[in-house]
Amino acid sequence: MLTVEPIKAYDDNYIWLITTNEGSLVVDPGESNKIIELIDSNKINLRGVLITHHHYDHTNGLLDLIKKKDLEVYGPNNNIQEINNRVIELDKITIIGIEFEVIEIPGHTLDHIAFYSFNNGEPMLFCGDTLFAGGCGRVFEGTYNQMFDSLKKISSYPQETKVYCGHEYTLSNLKFALEVDTNNHELENEFNNVKSLIASNTPSLPTTLQKELKINPFLRCNHSTIKNKVIKKFDMVDDELEIFTALRKWKDNF
Ligand SMILES: [Zn+2]
Repeated sequence: MLTVEPIKAYDDNYIWLITTNEGSLVVDPGESNKIIELIDSNKINLRGVLITHHHYDHTNGLLDLIKKKDLEVYGPNNNIQEINNRVIELDKITIIGIEFEVIEIPGHTLDHIAFYSFNNGEPMLFCGDTLFAGGCGRVFEGTYNQMFDSLKKISSYPQETKVYCGHEYTLSNLKFALEVDTNNHELENEFNNVKSLIASNTPSLPTTLQKELKINPFLRCNHSTIKNKVIKKFDMVDDELEIFTALRKWKDNF
């Protein structure tokens, strides 16, 4: 048995709650109150925490959780004191019966990592603020080149991988995607699908890599429609990294 459920936090964050018959894990607990309620009402046996990067909206609940219970807290090398297991590229960890592989994906922040599990042929990826449904994270600490490489790295994982992102940004991402990737019918269908999900207060996540490769402009910078649109708008040369960079900056001001 394995379930993955979203716990909403702040305006649009998701804390992912992973449960097996050996206990539960949370990914990126930006807040603690709903998790503590689940512990206190014996609905979960929280055993550990996975942290993708240092931002407060992914880590602020940690202190309350470790005060409450002894937890295995896995995360990158950063200034978050509550992380008691520092992990790096290709480290493998096993907790609640699930094996995760660590993938370093700098760009949004320099410390950013993702956790990938093959999970007996039903692969899943927890990628924080790097890949979003229909979009990608802002480049705050790293370079555009790092973000570009990180997205390429993620998208080389099995296509059926379910992707659990850190925020519900899908609808606004898809509005931008429609602007730059015209005549993409799968994108139009997905936009309508997500619009009705959001209208009924239903999370649009997880997504899959397969879907993202068809609709996410940041994974499709070499696609002729997107490429030509960016080249024309910014009067630039045909270079995939340059196009990605221009696209990301365009989205920042969209
Ligand atoms: Zn972040």
